[in-house]
Amino acid sequence: MTDILCMGELLAEIMAEDIGQSFTEPGVFLGPYPSGAPAIFADQAAKIGASVAFIGCAGNDGFGELILNRLRSDGVDVSGISRSDELPTGTAFVTYQKDGNREFIFNISNSAAALINEDSVDPALASNCRYFHVMGSSLGNAGSIAAVKRALALVKQSGGKVSFDPNIRPEIMVSPVIQEATQLILEACDILLPSEIDLHYFCGDVPESDAVETLLNKYSMDMVVVKNAAEGCVYYDRTRSIKMPSFKVTEVDPTGAGDCFGGTLIACLAQEIEIERALKLANAAGALAVTQRGPMEGNSTVNELDHFILSVEKKHEC
Ligand code: ATP
Ligand code: MG
Repeated sequence: MTDILCMGELLAEIMAEDIGQSFTEPGVFLGPYPSGAPAIFADQAAKIGASVAFIGCAGNDGFGELILNRLRSDGVDVSGISRSDELPTGTAFVTYQKDGNREFIFNISNSAAALINEDSVDPALASNCRYFHVMGSSLGNAGSIAAVKRALALVKQSGGKVSFDPNIRPEIMVSPVIQEATQLILEACDILLPSEIDLHYFCGDVPESDAVETLLNKYSMDMVVVKNAAEGCVYYDRTRSIKMPSFKVTEVDPTGAGDCFGGTLIACLAQEIEIERALKLANAAGALAVTQRGPMEGNSTVNELDHFILSVEKKHEC
């Protein structure tokens, strides 16, 4: 039995060196960094000690090697990742604007990442996991939606739990197919990990606690953990809420914080770690993630997170 099954896009990320750098002029770019929201999540969950398996597709090229090597060396079971000779590994180019916004150029639909379909799902993996994590960013085309649906059916049949990070990008939510898939996972999930943008998409312009109450009343999920970036997170179930403040750090690169947070939280839950400690570790993982350039470069083990938490708490005592 695997603790966590992840599925979706494997990407190489290439990042502008300077803030305010544009895609429209030559400039210096850093990377390639292993990336893809579900890959960041999976790598972090494995670093926290959970057993993690991944279903996806990478090109038979150096970028594919880069990602597989990282996942493998951090303990992820990559047997469910196929390689394509026809299409290259997916890529994401990113620049940071002076106002803190990010601009991305993705190549996913013409890459190996778009080759996932129903047949990519190994029933042995999907029927033998305790948690199946779905990223909204992995619902980008008909094949990947079919793959998620197939895995979802197998996981539910075998009694596994489903966690969902909607990762809503309003620009892709114009597609009725993606809207329908997002709604399906929302209805099926046991654990929802939304950001403020996700809550706004689902519930409109209402206070966070009202939005969460609506979701808990309407759907069968057991818990909602809202990610509030530099503010930390808030846990909600039907009887209580827990607000966990963040750790103060200097943000260098925010990409991947949410995935890293989620990977830590679900890995803790899979290992029966009590919720307050799980939330604290997840906040610490998100905080450390933003201090490093590269979406997976700030991923941390439990020992590293405990060391970081202790050093922050000691500073506060002084
Ligand atoms: P993304 O989709 O960009 O990866 P997200 O919107 O899903 O991110 P965030 O809320 O940005 O998720 O980040 C997840 C968690 O990481 C936060 O709940 C918090 O614990 C931690 N975190 C993020 N940014 C910061 C920061 N600047 N300082 C401290 N902690 C942070
Ligand atoms: Mg996110």
